[in-house]
Amino acid sequence: MPGFELFGDLERKEVNDVLDNGVLMRYGFDGMRNGHWKAKALEAELTKTFETKHVQLVSSGTAAVSVALASAGVGAGDEVIMPTFTFVASFEAIMMLGAIPVLVDIDDTLAIDPKAVEAAITPKTKAVMMVQMCGSMGDLNTVQSICEKHDLIFVEDACQAIGGTYDGKPLGSIGDLGCFSFDFVKTITCGEGGAVITNNSDYYLNADHYSDHGHDHEGNDRGAETHPFLGYNFRISELNAAVGLAQVKRLPEFIGIQKKHYTIIRNAISQIPEVTFRTVPAGGEESYAFLNFFLPDLEIARKVSKGFKDNGIDVCFHYYDNNWHYIRKWEHLKNKKSLFPLSAEIKQGLENLKHQTFEQSDYFIGRNISCLIKMSWTENEVAKRAENMVSIIKDALKS
Ligand SMILES: *Cc1c(COP(=O)(O)O)cnc(C)c1O
Repeated sequence: MPGFELFGDLERKEVNDVLDNGVLMRYGFDGMRNGHWKAKALEAELTKTFETKHVQLVSSGTAAVSVALASAGVGAGDEVIMPTFTFVASFEAIMMLGAIPVLVDIDDTLAIDPKAVEAAITPKTKAVMMVQMCGSMGDLNTVQSICEKHDLIFVEDACQAIGGTYDGKPLGSIGDLGCFSFDFVKTITCGEGGAVITNNSDYYLNADHYSDHGHDHEGNDRGAETHPFLGYNFRISELNAAVGLAQVKRLPEFIGIQKKHYTIIRNAISQIPEVTFRTVPAGGEESYAFLNFFLPDLEIARKVSKGFKDNGIDVCFHYYDNNWHYIRKWEHLKNKKSLFPLSAEIKQGLENLKHQTFEQSDYFIGRNISCLIKMSWTENEVAKRAENMVSIIKDALKS
């Protein structure tokens, strides 16, 4: 997955353009730039890539989620439904706005379960966030119609599924708002960066202003701009945008390499009858950034994970025992460990989490192994790796 694996001349050229004129900021300084507007150019390129009307670049994927929610008016006391399996950024971004994260089960797609979403809706629910983890998606159609029925905002976090599609549409472009990360380990990287995409012009204008201190971006005198509402600073720099501009042009090449490597490994391990794969909804195509598979039970999954580690099969994750991506290890969230006082509403909202259990999520995450697909592997390395994985899995099943 990480786009940095294939850095080359294109990235260097784009960054040098910025250094040559010295304008590292995305707004203003028109005279000095010699026509280089890397953030603007990247936004234009991303509207094509993600087949969307509007793109607002921001400083990170986490910022993208906060900006997306803020742009749609989500804030203090509002409940946002999110999955138990995701990156910690999901609840961070929600809580930053004073909103309350409501965690619900995932299903065999490894994304939010529509039935769990429906069951979690209360009069305070304002938005539902589907996180397209590890290169694939959940049941977007069903969640979207639940959102329509209950008049909720539907946000897609497609940070880990850049290049995946559903009914031929890019992931991230289906919800009311889509969020992307271009941090250092994502399929396209800017070093640090993110994007909010939407077809809604109001949300877009809100995102544009909110991510730059509420500036209205009218005219070309920054000092004279007005501030229609309060904002914050979530700007991306020209240097970061320049790297992304080179990378995004290579996305089809990246996805092609991921698919090739993914397919070799999948074909090899699918010969083991006890191994099953994550469900990809009908009409969906993964980005091939990860290969996800299930083992018969938690104990075997732990054995396979250990076997991989002991035998040099890196970048495979058993998220059940991992600190970053699954609720089991989010003690800081469950114990409300905040540097500063949290609002009474957030504290009340998080109270449930302490004792709540998520058996359905445990059932899937406990048995799941998720292997990152690297682009820099040679074909020989992938074949060897696949062979080793098969023998480690077979051993774990025997013992
Ligand atoms: C990486 C990631 C984020 C956050 O992106 P940053 O750019 O690192 O802040 C959010 N959600 C998911 C699913 C991610 O993988």
